[in-house]
This record gives sequence, C-alpha cells and structure tokens, in this order.
Amino acid sequence: MDLYSGYINRLIEELSALPGIGNKSAQRLAFYLVNQPADHVKRLADTIVEAREKVRYCSVCYTLTDQEICPICSSVKRDKQTIMVVENPRDLAAYEKTGKFNGVYHVLHGAISPMLGIGPNDIRLKELMQRLSTESVAEVIIATNSSLEGETTAMYISKLIKPTGIKVTRIASGVPVGGDLEYTDEVTLLRALEGRIEL
Ligand code: ZN
Repeated sequence: MDLYSGYINRLIEELSALPGIGNKSAQRLAFYLVNQPADHVKRLADTIVEAREKVRYCSVCYTLTDQEICPICSSVKRDKQTIMVVENPRDLAAYEKTGKFNGVYHVLHGAISPMLGIGPNDIRLKELMQRLSTESVAEVIIATNSSLEGETTAMYISKLIKPTGIKVTRIASGVPVGGDLEYTDEVTLLRALEGRIEL
C-alpha cells in the first residue's frame, strides 16, 4: 500500500475501519475526499466532530438525541404506558416512520449473543427494568430482530418481566428471519406490530 502518500494511506485505513466500508470503498472515498474543495471537507469533518460531541443518550429511553430527554419521551401525546423494546436507534426510526405506533421506546443498544460474548449486562437491560419499577407501564412490546440474538434477547427479557405482572408481547414473525428491522418495509412492520402475541 505504499503506492499512495502516507496521508492517503491513513485516510484509507480510517475509512475502511467504518462498518460496511471495505478497502475498495475506502479508497474510492479517500480519493473523492481529497479531490473536494477544502471547505466542503472541513464542513464534513466538523459535522462528524460536532455530532460526536453533542449527541447523547436520552436519559429515559436511551435513544440518541441532542437533549437530556428525547422528543418522543418528552411528548405529551405519546402513550407512556406502552414501551416498545428495540435493539438500536435505527429500528426505532423504522417504527417511527410508520407513524402508527403511539407508545414510547426503550433502546437496548445490542442484543444478547453468547457467541459474541455479549451478555445481559452489555445492553441497556438494567435500565429497562429500572424504568419498569418506577414508571406505570401496561405493556412491553419486544421488537428485537428475528435473528438468533434477537430471539434470545426476547426470551430473556420476557422471563425478567413476567414476575412483575406487566403484559409482555412479542411482535409477530412477519419480519424475515435474520432480517434487520430497518430494512423491512413499513407494511411488514405494521403487520408484525398488530399481530403481536403475548409471551
Ligand atoms: Zn427518549
């Protein structure tokens, strides 16, 4: 890789460390960036740094937000008694796009995966249980992915919640197995939500 300048090599290395960016894409992006006007590149760099500094976890649902409490959690129009548990903010965004879910969310930031060594303490599960013990909640809808990890997580959570007497439901498996929620179309998401079953 000594074909290029050291700076280009460093840029390619940094870019290829990003998820979904292989070495070829990293090279393409690197050359694109160094050919852009300097102020464009600076704006991009500043935006990345600023987002990293300003974005934080909502102190209620743990989605990413600029505020202490995210707009969904602070909205008076949302039904705080229904909590949908999702794996990540992208899944939350997918359900928000349907415009049909009026409850609130809880973002786990991952799923339990014994294979990858991710246990219950590595995701925001304690925070969910804490919420359930302090807030008045009627139903928890588990909308983790239908992958092995998502199912494992759903089972684990339902066992934890059951003794509290709070209703626990799981979205129907209209979501393709192994499929990420964010790529599933809205109709399928809605069908999965409407067809949820009690655990
Ligand atoms: Zn929130």
